[in-house]
Amino acid sequence: MENTRQFRIAAFIATAYILAAFAWWSMLLLRKNNEAMQARSSLLRLELQQKGMFLDDAQFQLTPQYSTEKTHFDKQSRMVLGEGSVLFIGLLIGVWAIHRSFRKEIELSTRQRNFLLSVSHELKSPIASIQLVVQTLQKRQLDAEKQNKLLHSASVESERLNVLVNNLLLSSRLDDAFEPQDEEVNITRLLEDLVEKCRMKFPKATFKFHKNDVPILRGDRQALVSIFTNLLENAVKYSGEKPNIELRQQFDNQRFMFEIADNGDGIPQNERRRVFEKFYRVGSEMTRKTKGTGLGLFIVAQLVKLHKGSIQIADNTPRGTIFRIILPN
Ligand code: ADP
Repeated sequence: MENTRQFRIAAFIATAYILAAFAWWSMLLLRKNNEAMQARSSLLRLELQQKGMFLDDAQFQLTPQYSTEKTHFDKQSRMVLGEGSVLFIGLLIGVWAIHRSFRKEIELSTRQRNFLLSVSHELKSPIASIQLVVQTLQKRQLDAEKQNKLLHSASVESERLNVLVNNLLLSSRLDDAFEPQDEEVNITRLLEDLVEKCRMKFPKATFKFHKNDVPILRGDRQALVSIFTNLLENAVKYSGEKPNIELRQQFDNQRFMFEIADNGDGIPQNERRRVFEKFYRVGSEMTRKTKGTGLGLFIVAQLVKLHKGSIQIADNTPRGTIFRIILPN
C-alpha cells in the first residue's frame, strides 16, 4: 500500500511537471512569435525607407506589406494558442482517465481482499458451529428439547452455508453466459415458502406477506429464489435487534411489482447505485457490524436484468429500506 501511495505521489509530481512545462513552452512560443513579428516589421520598415518611403507608425501599419505580416503573425499566434489548448486539455483528460482507472483498480483489489477475508470467515463460522453441535451430541446424552435446539442451530448454520455457496457459484456463472430458464412459476407459493423458511431461521424477526392476486410468472425458478432469498435475508441482517419485514406483491399493467420493506438503518442516497456492484459493501471494515461478501445485491441486480426487469431502492417510513422489483409479464 505504501509503495502504491509513493508511486501515486511520484505520478502526480511528474504530471504537474509535464503540464507546467507544456504551459511554459506555449508561452515561450508566443513570445518568440511576437519577437519575430517585431523583427520582421523593423526589416520591412528599413526596406520601405530604402525605397524612399518615410512613414509614421499609423501609416506604416496601413501598408499592404505590414498587413500581410500581421495576418501571418495572428495566424501563428492562434495556432499556438489553439493547438496548445487542445493538447493541454487532451493531456488533462488523459491523466484524469488514467487516475480514475487506477483508483478503480485499487478499490477493486481492496474489495477483493475484503471479500476473501469475509468468505473465509463466513465459511469457517458455520462449519465450526456444526462441528460443535455434532461433537456435543456425540459426547453427551441430552434431553429431547436440548437436542432439538442444537439440531435447529445446526440446520440454520448449514442453510447459511448453502446460501453462501449458492451465491458464490451463481456469481461466477453470471460472469459467463448464464441462460435463465423459461418456467411457469407460482410466485405466491414460492414467496410463501421463502417467508416460512425465514420465519424458522430468524425467530426474532416478524414477517408480513401481503399477497395480492397475481398470475403465473414466467421466469427462472432458481433465480427467483435467489433474488428473494438475498433480499429477505438482507432485510433481516440490516434491521438490528427487532427486524420487521413486509413483503408485498402486485400485478398491474402487465407488470409484476414486489416490495421488500424493512425497519433497518436504510441505505444512504449516494450508495444506492454502488450497492449493486460486485463485492461492494457500505462503510469501511472498521465501522461495519455485519459480516457479508458484497455479492448478494450484485447477483440480485444481474438476475433481475436477465429477466428484463428493474430494481429500485426507496426509503421506508418511519425508517428502513424498500427494495422494489418490477418484472415484465
Ligand atoms: P452483503 O450483505 O454480503 O454485504 P450485499 O450485496 O447483499 O452484500 O449488500 C451490499 C451492501 O448493501 C451491504 O453491505 C449493506 O451495506 C447494504 N444493504 C443491503 N441490503 C440492505 C438493507 N436491507 N438495509 C440496509 N443496507 C443494506
